[in-house]
Amino acid sequence: MIVLTDQQLVAMNEHGERDYPYECCGLLIGRFLQDGHKEVLETFPISNAREEEAKRNRFLIRPEELLAGERAAQQKSLDVIGFYHSHPDEPAVPSKYDLEHAWPIYSYIVVSVRDGSARDLRSWEMEADRSRFNPEEMLKGQE
Ligand SMILES: [Zn+2]
Repeated sequence: MIVLTDQQLVAMNEHGERDYPYECCGLLIGRFLQDGHKEVLETFPISNAREEEAKRNRFLIRPEELLAGERAAQQKSLDVIGFYHSHPDEPAVPSKYDLEHAWPIYSYIVVSVRDGSARDLRSWEMEADRSRFNPEEMLKGQE
């Protein structure tokens, strides 16, 4: 389960719309709670490091960008708890590529952006044996 505020949802939707027709991506910064639950305290937008051509269907976070995000999190005694990215004109469901590049524990939020507007946002967690993603329950947090 992941706890998110409306403000964070809006920020991710807007980032997806801004970068359309390319994929946007960013980090989820917050805390790991008990029982594998997570709380998002900040969304950390980062640029898309891919070549123009590949931007439409894959996202990549540069190591220095991840490091900058981790440092920003650590300064506030927080952690990187997951990642978000958009799927332009595709459902909010992780692709095979996403599964191959995912890690257990983290949350993966996918925003579906159709014709430039965000339509659907879902959170996913990888099965421990890395075979698939499972939908992750989203709970509304305090602003
Ligand atoms: Zn994807």
